[in-house]
Amino acid sequence: MEDTKELYAALLGIRHPWRVVKVELDLSKNRVDVWVEEFKGLKWKCPACGQTGPLYDHDEERIWRHLDTCQCQTFLHARMPRVHCSVHGIQLVPAPWAEPGSRFTLAFEHQVIDTLKECDITGVCRLLHSGWKEMWGALERAVKRGLKRKVRRIPEYLSIDEKSFAKRHKYETLVCDLKGGTVEFVVDERSQDSLETYYRQFEEEERRLVKGVAMDMWDPYIAATRDWLPKADIVFDRFHVVRLVTQAVDKVRRQEHKLLKEQGDETLKRTRYLWLANEENIPEWRREEFSELRKIELKTGRAWALKESLRPFWDYKYAKWAEGFFDRWYYWATHSRLRPMVKAAKTLKSHLPNILTFFKHRITNAVAEGLNSKIQMVKQMACGFRNREHFKTAIYFHCGGLDLYPCPKPYSL
Ligand SMILES: [Zn+2]
Repeated sequence: MEDTKELYAALLGIRHPWRVVKVELDLSKNRVDVWVEEFKGLKWKCPACGQTGPLYDHDEERIWRHLDTCQCQTFLHARMPRVHCSVHGIQLVPAPWAEPGSRFTLAFEHQVIDTLKECDITGVCRLLHSGWKEMWGALERAVKRGLKRKVRRIPEYLSIDEKSFAKRHKYETLVCDLKGGTVEFVVDERSQDSLETYYRQFEEEERRLVKGVAMDMWDPYIAATRDWLPKADIVFDRFHVVRLVTQAVDKVRRQEHKLLKEQGDETLKRTRYLWLANEENIPEWRREEFSELRKIELKTGRAWALKESLRPFWDYKYAKWAEGFFDRWYYWATHSRLRPMVKAAKTLKSHLPNILTFFKHRITNAVAEGLNSKIQMVKQMACGFRNREHFKTAIYFHCGGLDLYPCPKPYSL
């Protein structure tokens, strides 16, 4: 038995003034319980002021889950001393192996966070044989800790994006640091006020440091950014711009398909993908079909050609040249007699100054590699939540670049 106590003292890294007094193994439950106690006759530091005082009494026994011993879950038991401070009265001495209020040791909390980073909560519960509430609690604590430690600063380049969740009925606004590749702020809705909640946190001289903000052509975001970051360039996201034109092509296709179908012509059936994809992405086995389609006099074909011909726009080095190119494209588009294309071209023209800023900053919403796919993963994991706060917390956990751990890696208690 003495050997076991020594073994556990060594494994747990228990040091003076603590010692292992009892170890119990219950193989039927795959469980090890370890009791620790302090040496007698010691003085304790008051947690409020650090002054030492005599032991007053002991708190109730508390139990912390620790890393498993082989196949056995391992629990640490202790009654924490209460110290008598001449200034602060009776104070509970905090356990050095856990955060206040946590039912996990620091080492186990580390393991939970490491596991949470790798899979969804259900997976974590299964791997660590734990309950949903406990694991979610650890995730929430980690985010709270990380946000508290986070240094307040506004990034040089921002990206503002909206994310829908819970079957697309609800939106969150995400503010990302484009260079750091982190989500800086998540706020409900996608209104002007949502975004202003983020900007308002910073002083004017801090806000002046922002050089560019990538975003969709969404009026509330534009208004908030113009008001609060008058020095920053708004850069309309390239992929949103392309999508606008692609959607116009699709509209032309739908209208034309409907008309043709009424005359019994099914030419455009099942061709949606061909018109919307980038030409080089069209699979080999459909290329011939597509090239035949393009030989027919179709409105959709003309709309498609307009979409494709805008692509070199993004390859320009200088805004001036890109502008010249756009003007030629604009003339063609607005004379195409294809209503959706005319409308899309006019929308782009009215936003052109903030599309051309792309050539100065070269930023898009496709934040530092990986972040978008990470957010997508969180969204998938969050399907079960249907809860705004949970969705936000999960985004901060996985994408916030936060320091989530309770302390540097604890090798012992
Ligand atoms: Zn004190």
